[in-house]
Amino acid sequence: MGSEKYVYLFEDGNREMKDLLGGKGAGLAEMKRIGLNVPPGFTITTATCRQYMKEGKLPDGLMDEVIRNLRKIEQQSGKRFGDRKNPLLVSVRSGAPISMPGMMDTILNVGLNEETVNGLADATGNRRFALDSYRRLIQMFGNVVLGIDKGEFDGALEDLKTRYGLKHDVDLNEEHLEELIGRYFEIYSKHNLTFPQDPMEQLKIAIEAVFRSWNSERAIAYREINKIPDDMGTAVNIVTMVFGNMGSNSATGVAFTRDPNTGEKKLFAEYLINAQGEDVVSGIRTPRKIEDMARELPDAFSDLVRCSEILEKHYANMMDIEFTVERGKLFLLQTRVGKRTAKAEVKIAVDMVKEGLIDKKEAIMRVTPHVVDTLLHPQIRKTGNENLLGKGLAASPGAAVGSLVFSSDRAVELSKEGKKVILVRPETTADDVRGMAVSEGFLTQKGGMTSHAAVVARAMGKPAVVGAEGISVDIKNRIVTVGNTRLTENDTITIDGTSGKFYLGALELETASVGKDLEQILSWSDEYRKLGVRANANTPEEAELARKNGAEGIGLARTERMFLGNDRIPVVRAMIMSTTREEREKYLDQLLPMQISDFTEFFRTMDGLPVIIRLLDPPLHEFLPDKESLLNEMSVIRLRMEKGESNANDPQRMKELERILDTVRRLEEFNPMLGFRGCRVGIAYPEIYEMQVRAIITAAIKAKEEGKTIIPEIMIPLVGHHNELRILREHLQKIADDLASGKGITYKFGTMVEIPRACLTAGSIAEYADFFSFGTNDLTQMTFGYSRDDAEGKFMHTYLERKILPEDPFKSVDVEGVGELMRIAVERGRRTRPDLEIGICGEQGGDPDTIYFCHEIGLDYVSSSPFRIPIARLSAARAAIAEERSKTSD
Ligand code: PEP
Ligand code: MG
Repeated sequence: MGSEKYVYLFEDGNREMKDLLGGKGAGLAEMKRIGLNVPPGFTITTATCRQYMKEGKLPDGLMDEVIRNLRKIEQQSGKRFGDRKNPLLVSVRSGAPISMPGMMDTILNVGLNEETVNGLADATGNRRFALDSYRRLIQMFGNVVLGIDKGEFDGALEDLKTRYGLKHDVDLNEEHLEELIGRYFEIYSKHNLTFPQDPMEQLKIAIEAVFRSWNSERAIAYREINKIPDDMGTAVNIVTMVFGNMGSNSATGVAFTRDPNTGEKKLFAEYLINAQGEDVVSGIRTPRKIEDMARELPDAFSDLVRCSEILEKHYANMMDIEFTVERGKLFLLQTRVGKRTAKAEVKIAVDMVKEGLIDKKEAIMRVTPHVVDTLLHPQIRKTGNENLLGKGLAASPGAAVGSLVFSSDRAVELSKEGKKVILVRPETTADDVRGMAVSEGFLTQKGGMTSHAAVVARAMGKPAVVGAEGISVDIKNRIVTVGNTRLTENDTITIDGTSGKFYLGALELETASVGKDLEQILSWSDEYRKLGVRANANTPEEAELARKNGAEGIGLARTERMFLGNDRIPVVRAMIMSTTREEREKYLDQLLPMQISDFTEFFRTMDGLPVIIRLLDPPLHEFLPDKESLLNEMSVIRLRMEKGESNANDPQRMKELERILDTVRRLEEFNPMLGFRGCRVGIAYPEIYEMQVRAIITAAIKAKEEGKTIIPEIMIPLVGHHNELRILREHLQKIADDLASGKGITYKFGTMVEIPRACLTAGSIAEYADFFSFGTNDLTQMTFGYSRDDAEGKFMHTYLERKILPEDPFKSVDVEGVGELMRIAVERGRRTRPDLEIGICGEQGGDPDTIYFCHEIGLDYVSSSPFRIPIARLSAARAAIAEERSKTSD
């Protein structure tokens, strides 16, 4: 026990000892080490705190060690603790390994009592200052250590000021302060408490109070929110007091070595003359700007500039510094890496590379994906909870303002009038895509993170809040009810897809900008990343954006989205309702030129880059109206007919509706996502895929004739057995080769890997595939057995809340399960075909953790929404750099 070292003098520590000395202790030690002016002091370790928590008392021998070190700082400062003539005062400050600003306790001026206060007055020749310091100690000790409400002390102070007609605390003179001290003691008595006069007892109790504050309610809550482990403990720093409240040549303040809002390279500081630290934090007086300091305290100011430059160079980062000026002399009381806005983070990283302070890799590691995400989406300028209507799932980031609209048609109508609208639906379907395209954002009552609304929103880069179960959407009457509030088309709301919250009224938004600094970081990222970055894009416009954002190809073009245009949907429906192959082919012939023009446009945009086009995937019923709306329309017509009020078109419309209903019933399935979709449809109706392959190759030939370089990759969805792929490939390849022969077009043939069986049998599937693309939406759905459209809306939040799952597997690949299947597929697939190209195109492909994992298992590329391409480029580089760093540190 006795061999334990509880205490480190600042001289004995350094910046590497954060875990043991806490951030503040390590920072003070480092500043001392490099010769900056830090008051004498020492740190009690975090290990001591852990022992205190375990044993419920200060460890034996701790106070002996504290006293031994106190003697050393007495020597350094030339003062003695408890001395009646020239007393040493200390501050007792908390400081955990991870910064928890304001969450734990600090007590200043420890060592003052009825006697030493006079000594301090004599030694400094400033009785007012001595009394002010004493009353602050009594107040802090009473509040922080003994738990007396701070309001009682503040009340007494305000009372006194009012009584004597004083405006500011600095207006209190010696008599006022003496009276105030008396009032403070009365407050103690009222609570049957006494202020300890023995300085050593003050010190011991204060140390214990700081340790205890590690487990205060607010500290526990802060750790929970910020995912800080509960067992770290805090260090306690005992620091010789220096005084910013010794008159007009003294001050206290906070400085940042660069502007934390903009990142601009200029000292940014605020200070208060004649004040102690807590005055700055509590905002009692408005701090002064740094420009004034050069004039008011010129020597201290130039020293601050010098120290700021030294610290920034030494840490190679923007630093936050707490300082005090005592009678013109600057002391540094703390330094740490400064918090900053996303914009400042990026600018500082780039500038520091240019200044030679850090290298490009370090800059990339400093800019987190979260920073980029924040920069790329409009945000609500000020978020409070006023006007808050409710919360759903944060499905697609960014904020949007608009008036409510309840149907796609109406959205199109209003947007033509120039109105900004938010589409509100129970859930969205393929029918809503037109309306979604003209809306600012979407709010749905049902659905999860991979629901239609969520996926389309992310693809379109529009904000979405989905699965907001607290709302009830009445489409017919165009009303949405939230608690007691009923909103209609005339109401405006603001949705925040970053937090999942939505608000009544138009909140002020800030717009996003990529800016040249972020571009620089991204282009450096491209030098280091090993993963390729492609985009999921369903239209040439999306492809263009993807290219602009730096995508190196298209990883997934969902052709079904191209079937949804106004001119196509009637033809697609007619094709689906056909009962013979000939009839189907008739409609497919009509679709062929449309698909050719789609693909040609795609190839033009992606000139020189690979484009993966996936053949039709969803269950066919998704292209038809839903049963309920069909039955509704039929009953309306029937009613009209019964009343003899029917119009001329009714009989024909009725027949048409009956036909559609027949088809809907024919296609109805219990589990459509496990049903007749993907390659199963391709095998049953080969003419559909035939048409699509013809369109792809014809478009490729056309674009090539225009001088473009075309790299088409044809992808078959939902393969679970190698025979499915074999049959389709053999059949479709003939068609492709016939068209392509002699035209100089080379293409690839590959498959989605999105069924667990496909992962396990990847070896035989690879015999027929030139490439794999992991469809982790379906793969997650089928591996967990969770419906991708319902899980989030139903039980996922409970699972996450109760930590049954660490993360939503539809957002970030579940490495343990789904990831294991991916690993197997990569290994077995490449064993058969070493040059097999493998990527990922599920929603998780834009998630930073998933990208790390994809790097680790050696994928060739990730494919994400065009809007997330910058995040994917950065994350891929970070993965490569992190791997390299972990190898060199081994
Ligand atoms: C997937 O399943 O991950 C995928 C990309 O395909 P879709 O979302 O279109 O089913
Ligand atoms: Mg899929």
